[in-house]
Amino acid sequence: MGFFNYHTHTTYCDGKSTPEEIVLEAIRLGMDTIGFSGHAPCPGAEDYSVRDLEGYNECVERLKDKYSDKIRILRGIERDIFAYDDNHDYDYVIGAFHNLYVDGKFYATDRSPAIIQESINELCGGDAEAFAIRYMGFAKDIARVTGCDIIAHMDLVTKFNGDGENKLFDVRSEAYLAAVKEAVDENMKLCRLFEINAGAISRGWRKTPYPDPAILDIIHDAGGKITFGSDSHAKETLLLGFDQAEELAKKHGFGALTRLVI
Ligand SMILES: [Zn+2]
Ligand SMILES: [Zn+2]
Repeated sequence: MGFFNYHTHTTYCDGKSTPEEIVLEAIRLGMDTIGFSGHAPCPGAEDYSVRDLEGYNECVERLKDKYSDKIRILRGIERDIFAYDDNHDYDYVIGAFHNLYVDGKFYATDRSPAIIQESINELCGGDAEAFAIRYMGFAKDIARVTGCDIIAHMDLVTKFNGDGENKLFDVRSEAYLAAVKEAVDENMKLCRLFEINAGAISRGWRKTPYPDPAILDIIHDAGGKITFGSDSHAKETLLLGFDQAEELAKKHGFGALTRLVI
């Protein structure tokens, strides 16, 4: 199987490389498929969302034509459950959940260790496990609200939890895993494909991808499938974590990474 990646950000949102730079790098790497997934505009995340959706869509379509004999290009979007309505048709949608929204206020999870701690303190009186369980309470609606084809970084709430260090909370606690299982089961009613996501690796926060191995087992036991998204924000990290993802997929009984059928 050749290399592919469905989760790619560009200068149209918070990435550092243009779509064309990404395509050229993907061709150089011998990839057969590259999917773009700009952040859909979303309250609480305006600073890292696509500002010019028309331009983004046109640009990716133009690149599809230009490089059609060299690589398969897909025009996707990463849609948060709180994203604004967007009437464009996409080749695929990555469904995601980033910031908790309670009583008219957003509580960020993935910006920095200090900011998530602030969110945990304000919303849950410093109880990070309770915060993570609340996170899963929102994440269970990803497929229903976003109509996605792939569920992204299922446990983004662990971004600053370390690699097994449990800096904020114990990712193997019974209560947390019960909330994860509920979220997986609810999403599975509409979307069976979950992502192994290397976003926290490329940003230097972790050495292991999302989701935690215990969650991979939950997804596998529930009959789910696994695919890959580097969540790359620069051409240099386009395939970061692909080998690890393939290995993890095999180790947890999925056999291989699943491809989108479009
Ligand atoms: Zn995301
Ligand atoms: Zn992303």
